[in-house]
Amino acid sequence: MTYPVALPWYGLTSLDDRTWCLTEPHVHPIFSANIFLVLGRDADLVIDSGMGIAPLRPVIDGIRPDPAKPLILFTTHAHVDHIGAAHEFETRLAHPLEAEEMADPTPYSLDSADIPDRFRQLFLDAGYPPLWPMLIDAIPHEGYDPSRYRLTGAAPTSLVRDGDVVDLGDWRAEVLHLPGHSPGQIGLWHDASGTLFGADAIYDGPLIYDGPGMSVPDYAASLKRIRDLPVKQVYGGHDPAFGPERRDEIVNRYLDLWGEA
Ligand SMILES: [Zn+2]
Ligand SMILES: [Zn+2]
Repeated sequence: MTYPVALPWYGLTSLDDRTWCLTEPHVHPIFSANIFLVLGRDADLVIDSGMGIAPLRPVIDGIRPDPAKPLILFTTHAHVDHIGAAHEFETRLAHPLEAEEMADPTPYSLDSADIPDRFRQLFLDAGYPPLWPMLIDAIPHEGYDPSRYRLTGAAPTSLVRDGDVVDLGDWRAEVLHLPGHSPGQIGLWHDASGTLFGADAIYDGPLIYDGPGMSVPDYAASLKRIRDLPVKQVYGGHDPAFGPERRDEIVNRYLDLWGEA
């Protein structure tokens, strides 16, 4: 099978005068995660790093007004679609419970035949479209061989926990531990603008709560915590941004489903 070349590989949307969202539109929706860039006075911040199919760092540095400024990568959790390009960044923050998997991640293939049946069913049950033969429907450059895809590990250089602050000088956000989808999942709460970077704890698509390392009671507690935040916008780990009404609908729908309301 031959695939078309998608140039550029990453989709790019401006969310406000300092915040960008990068996406991988040619990755299957299950594995197509958001990558955020927040520009700061003293440092810039990247939240998650996609699948690692195409180099991310040059794209990020191309957006930054000053590519020489310090750059912090904040990894919400160690799933394949959030850590792929982590090794391209020198400063890597993550929660201690995700550190081992980040350093030495479970090998991953782009061939969907390598995905075990139980995950295939889990994704269908959650509401995603069936997998494609490969996890991509295009390649990032001529001659790219999807069978040579490898997930590269990169241990965190600093560990962060609930209540820690990520400080860009003129932008400060609090680390929220949001377990359930992954034990050490973390989000960021920017109180000044009412913005939640919700990771895979909340996004506007089917939530995944039933796999290895996942916990419905923990997930329910994380969603209740998110419900109590005075959010103006939620930037989730997948899918477009949404506001507080949609936040309430998503939270209440899953709490009902789990009998945790
Ligand atoms: Zn994800
Ligand atoms: Zn995930």
